[in-house]
Amino acid sequence: MARRFIGSANEMMNPEGYELFAEQAKLRAISDAGGLRANRPGESAHNYGAAIDIDIIKGSRAVTRDTAPRTYDSLNGRLGALGEHQGLIWGGRFNDPPHFQHPGIPVNGPDMLRLHQQLLRTTGAGLDALMGVP
Ligand SMILES: [Zn+2]
Repeated sequence: MARRFIGSANEMMNPEGYELFAEQAKLRAISDAGGLRANRPGESAHNYGAAIDIDIIKGSRAVTRDTAPRTYDSLNGRLGALGEHQGLIWGGRFNDPPHFQHPGIPVNGPDMLRLHQQLLRTTGAGLDALMGVP
């Protein structure tokens, strides 16, 4: 049943690790110019390979809040419940319904970056290494 809800997923995965920060910087620049909202580098779980965004596809079309708000909210609620049932943190709890994230890291971006920097200082390996990003 979940396959009917999950049309596509994009995951910012990058074997080089820190290039994820560079990619995030590009997204932030777009955000700052008025585009889709994006966190600063190091303040997104995507930077650590610890999050995915899932778009809902029905038939061959993306279901969006703009085109089908009731269907979008209904399907996202069901998808969110599925993710939370699996132990994931669902972005629908903080106005980012496509987002699912590993439960073992902070949700707050600045807290996430502070943890990463603290890990780097104390262990020499950051949150990306802890999350298994090679
Ligand atoms: Zn996301």
